Amino acid sequence: MRIICDFDGTISRRDTTDLVLETLAGPGWTELEDQWLAAKITAAECMRGQVALIGGDRAALDAVLDSVELDAGFLDFVAWCEARDLPVSIVSDGVDYFIGRILARHGLERLPVISNELVGEPGAWALEQPWAEAGCAAGSGVCKCAATGLRGRTPPPKATTVYVGDGRSDFCIAGRADILFAKDKLADYASARAQPYHPFETFHEVTATLAALMGETAAEAALAAARAAAAR
Ligand SMILES: [Mg+2]
Ligand SMILES: [Zn+2]
Repeated sequence: MRIICDFDGTISRRDTTDLVLETLAGPGWTELEDQWLAAKITAAECMRGQVALIGGDRAALDAVLDSVELDAGFLDFVAWCEARDLPVSIVSDGVDYFIGRILARHGLERLPVISNELVGEPGAWALEQPWAEAGCAAGSGVCKCAATGLRGRTPPPKATTVYVGDGRSDFCIAGRADILFAKDKLADYASARAQPYHPFETFHEVTATLAALMGETAAEAALAAARAAAAR
């Protein structure tokens, strides 16, 4: 079993890119957002345009990133997975620098991340999108199903794939996951397509549900937690 998680609004409580734009970009970023919502531009085009609008120096950017809080249950969830050798990775339509800084502040820089890539320098940022796929239903900078081997590019993985997400950028991968955890827009999307999913508010519920699916008793969970704590 492998676990793949969205970042913004799933691992982070707020959408990091939106927070950066609200704080450091000029008013033009909402016009791009409106064009995307009206389907005049793709999500990928929208985000490239928005990142180019980010102003301020690096200290200002870092200060915004350092205000981002994680889901209340995510650290425990990662520890729970690692105690069982379940690999956890992040696939995000967000920005590598933003995610990397936030993860490092929580001691989680070891988690693999696939995302868009920030290039350039303060006042002249640009976004590269090496994981974009023409024809991706989500129209995102990162086609999550291609990036995780669930479509094209690489052979399909044999391991059961668990996906945890909350939004539009997750639409293309949600239908290909074996076990789906969804909230907000992603839950609405799965409901509309009659796709089974596990609703969640925090990763505490994801942990509890996966433990139940794996048939784990409370005693086994306590033993694994004790072993993991001893190993740290
Ligand atoms: Mg999200
Ligand atoms: Zn896709």
